[in-house]
Amino acid sequence: MKNSQKISLLEKRTLIEEKIRSLYPDTYRKIIHSISQAKPTTFRINTLNGGAEVLEELTEHGIQVQKGPLPNSYVVKKGSQKEIEATSGYQNGKIYLQEFSSMLPPLILDVEKNHIVLDLAAAPGGKSTEIQAITGDESKIVCVEKNPIRFERLKYNLELQGVKNYEILLENGIGLYKNHPEYSEYFERILLDAPCSNEGGIHLSEPKSYASWDLKPSKELMRTQKGLIMSAYHTLRPGGILVYSTCTFCIEENEGIVDWLLKQTQNMELLPISLGIPNTIPGFTKFTEDIFHPSLVRTKRIIPDALFTAFFLAKFRKVMIQI
Ligand code: SAM
Repeated sequence: MKNSQKISLLEKRTLIEEKIRSLYPDTYRKIIHSISQAKPTTFRINTLNGGAEVLEELTEHGIQVQKGPLPNSYVVKKGSQKEIEATSGYQNGKIYLQEFSSMLPPLILDVEKNHIVLDLAAAPGGKSTEIQAITGDESKIVCVEKNPIRFERLKYNLELQGVKNYEILLENGIGLYKNHPEYSEYFERILLDAPCSNEGGIHLSEPKSYASWDLKPSKELMRTQKGLIMSAYHTLRPGGILVYSTCTFCIEENEGIVDWLLKQTQNMELLPISLGIPNTIPGFTKFTEDIFHPSLVRTKRIIPDALFTAFFLAKFRKVMIQI
């Protein structure tokens, strides 16, 4: 039994490497190297709960940090995650431990004060709290989460991070527009950081991180992604912006879902995304037999490197239908 598990894990590892090679033939060696190395601990200073003084506390504890490439982001140069978690700054919600890639979706949402925002798959709340920090908690965010345990964590994090202007719903986001007719075409900004196969979390030197990985994406997961993005479509106001993100490099869950939404609707358009980081490429417009809408070139794939994990971003605007 042990042996067959071991073989199947080894096979999985080979298949993952082959998949990366087929997606990124020119850079796959670098990518495989980067996902075989441990990433440093990274965090965001939560400007809702104060700011720079937290850095002084870290220094007092002998923790050394360096500014990261994104707003309020830091890389830990000396010190462990545990040591950070023991500081009062962390315990008082002045610091949010977060991967850099995970900080990107709120940064492209163009959220402004007074916007009404929906986070349709919100727990544990890293991006909801970041969105509210961007506007100084002057936007209002509705956070939806289906999993009751993760919902509790979300509530805890929103409170700890000093977010006041929020509403939180423990429910299936797929039915949101049916169960809440008041939310039909209501939100100015929507983030759908979708549940996904999390290939970005694969660490080749930690077999546990890919033990449940499968070459074929789960049909059920894709059904959920389609249901959620369609719910986002119905609850987005004309003129509003939807950001769809995943932490996977799986084409079916990324370009496949975006292309599906474009085909299902007549008034969603993809907007260009500007990130100011080097490790990105446009989304695919074709891959083997799959041909996607040419505007998929506006989506972005984050290529794993020393600081970033694999991620996918698409930014839509809902345009008025001219009759
Ligand atoms: N955006 C979060 C953050 O940055 O902290 C991470 C979100 S995680 C990628 C996806 C979340 O969607 C999970 O917490 C999962 O429980 C939730 N989820 C899955 N299916 C859902 C559904 N049908 N409706 C609402 N939430 C769902």
